Amino acid sequence: MPPRPSFRESLATKGVFTITYELVPGRSTRLREFRKIIRFVEDASQDHRLHGVSITENAGGHPALSPEILGREIKAAGLDPILHFSCKDKNRNQIESTLFARDREGLHNLLIITGDYPRYGFMGKAKPVFDLDAVHLLRLISAMEKGFELPEEAPGGGVKLPPMPFFKGCVVSPFKRYEAELLPQYYKLHRKVAAGAHFVITQVGFDARKFHELLLYMKEESLDVPLLGSVLVMDYRLAKIIFRGVVPGVRISRAFMARVEKEEEKWGPKAALIRAAKLIAVLKGMGYKGVHICGAKPVYQDIIFLLEKAQEFFSHWQEFVGEFQDSPPDTFYLYRKDPESGLNLPERNERANAARAPFSLLFNCFLHDLFFEPGKAFYPQAKKLASKISGSRLEPLFTKLEYSLKKFLFDCERCGDCTLGELAFLCPQSQCAKGLLNGPCGGSQDGYCEVYPEKRCLYVRVYERLKALGKEEKLKEGFIPPRDWNLAGTSSWLNFYLGRDHHRHFSSPK
Ligand code: SF4
Repeated sequence: MPPRPSFRESLATKGVFTITYELVPGRSTRLREFRKIIRFVEDASQDHRLHGVSITENAGGHPALSPEILGREIKAAGLDPILHFSCKDKNRNQIESTLFARDREGLHNLLIITGDYPRYGFMGKAKPVFDLDAVHLLRLISAMEKGFELPEEAPGGGVKLPPMPFFKGCVVSPFKRYEAELLPQYYKLHRKVAAGAHFVITQVGFDARKFHELLLYMKEESLDVPLLGSVLVMDYRLAKIIFRGVVPGVRISRAFMARVEKEEEKWGPKAALIRAAKLIAVLKGMGYKGVHICGAKPVYQDIIFLLEKAQEFFSHWQEFVGEFQDSPPDTFYLYRKDPESGLNLPERNERANAARAPFSLLFNCFLHDLFFEPGKAFYPQAKKLASKISGSRLEPLFTKLEYSLKKFLFDCERCGDCTLGELAFLCPQSQCAKGLLNGPCGGSQDGYCEVYPEKRCLYVRVYERLKALGKEEKLKEGFIPPRDWNLAGTSSWLNFYLGRDHHRHFSSPK
């Protein structure tokens, strides 16, 4: 048996098609399910087919066994673990502390995700944290990889910590229905790659043309990191759950669900594996670097069957493209359809014209340019005035006035570290359930929020408003640093002029 390359090596080696498998730990290690997982790990370690085994972290927003427990067992068995690492349950200090622990244990492969909104918890719903978003977390880990320089003012600060060899990936969804929902996903991917993502895994979906679109986009935009396609092994039971819309960001149509049922009647429990094998063949054929298998039961014999079938299908993968076209008929595709292959031509589709910018947006931009553009118009006078007010008896009154006005206009939450100017004058603190600063999570459905399905996703609205100004591509440039909680409740205007807000992280204020 040839030696199995590590996950990292497999991604770096030309000609190797990377295969990873996702394990979902339950709550207790004393249940039969856990013993099945351990059995799976033992069987997989005797074989050479898997390059990595990923472990979810509180998947679906529910508590579960912490992923490093299985990570240790997987590593001890000689397999390469990939730990999911989300922002939903930990603030930035706990995140850093957990990263030190991961480094100590040699658990360096991480899949960075925003995370599903916490739902069920002990005696009630858990508090959502989301102190950092995925872009921030990738940046923090990149800093740790280089050797983390602790600032002078930090306890034990002024030193550089030894580098930690993390290897981290991120997720993107090409399966969004509308332009204003899809492009912010792609734009955020630019920020993730710039933040140091080493690999990318897609969201789950069943539209080959969408998978192909992402591949084309990444090539065209020189997002030069390996891309793995998620392949969901979906039986009829799981199809019914997904159809109900309870899995954030994942959808299937009634027709696709009916097909799953029919195939299961015909081929029995192997139907889901055969369908997944076809999708693996299609992804490999179109040029994906590998696949991430999820949803399959932890039975290694099933994985062998699946991969052997995929091998069988590979020589005629084009035949299966037509079986994966499950998107609503009005879905936006970035590229023109190739009628021959059923995939895309490398030519972009026309995008709809932007709507007219609302007057309030234009007026806010006008005021912002007058007062908040460094060096321009009234900026110097406003800065002088701010330094006089700061620390004086006027400051509390000034702060009150600012926030009364901003509460009325923007539903302001007094964060003190204002990002209205970057986000088309929509407040992420009050209007994004996860308070995300650098783009959407993957959970939206048809442009609506994962957490509050009656509300449109903040980033869909930000995109539309920026597009109306001809500035939507701002969402792929730079990044917005995390909120500084020191500033909560203090005047964001004073903080801006006195260099205390997030603009201080940039050499020249944005
Ligand atoms: S970003 Fe902060 S300061 Fe600005 S409107 Fe929202 S809560 Fe208020």
